[in-house]
Amino acid sequence: MNLDLDFIISASLLIACIIPLYIYRRKIFPFIYKKGDIDLFLKDLKLHMMEIHPKFNYDYSIVEKTKDEKDIRIRETLIVENIVEQYFNFEYIKKTQKTIPSDKFWKGYEEHSKSSSKLPSDWPRRKELAYTRDEGKCNRCYRKIKIDDTYTSFAKNIENGGGYNFENIIILCSDCNKIINSTNPTSTIHNLALNEELMVFVKS
Ligand SMILES: [Zn+2]
Repeated sequence: MNLDLDFIISASLLIACIIPLYIYRRKIFPFIYKKGDIDLFLKDLKLHMMEIHPKFNYDYSIVEKTKDEKDIRIRETLIVENIVEQYFNFEYIKKTQKTIPSDKFWKGYEEHSKSSSKLPSDWPRRKELAYTRDEGKCNRCYRKIKIDDTYTSFAKNIENGGGYNFENIIILCSDCNKIINSTNPTSTIHNLALNEELMVFVKS
């Protein structure tokens, strides 16, 4: 009889200890649950996309479409792939850009602005001023970029008579530069830096 009572007390104590462990399992063992939390993954992903591409309106219907996928890592990877594909597919039309105040022009500016197959000698200065004009943001995705990571394009292509004047210079990030020059969408999408950047959310 005593043994039975001891057993009941021990079992009750054990259960009393296990219940809080179960209730607070996500807080006590975050390293296990972090990988498996789709809501947290989505929250982080959406926040990140809003921060890096503020003007793109991503469609997250892929979340519902993948709801039967049991492996959370596969599901998250499918979501990331879909977002990268949307990023690739957003329509972009190159437009004439703003100029800069003419008092910032220098001797020879007009002359060197003419269309030519060779970049003008003052090209670094032009690129830097166009970068400042656009507040260091990519013209396609509006992502903030460093001057050293900046690519350029022209509203009117140089081959078609476009010049090196400020209105014709477009500032782009590395991925958008790949996208607008893409001849093979599948390969380009695969090679975008955004892939690796977003896969960090799946791995973490
Ligand atoms: Zn961009």
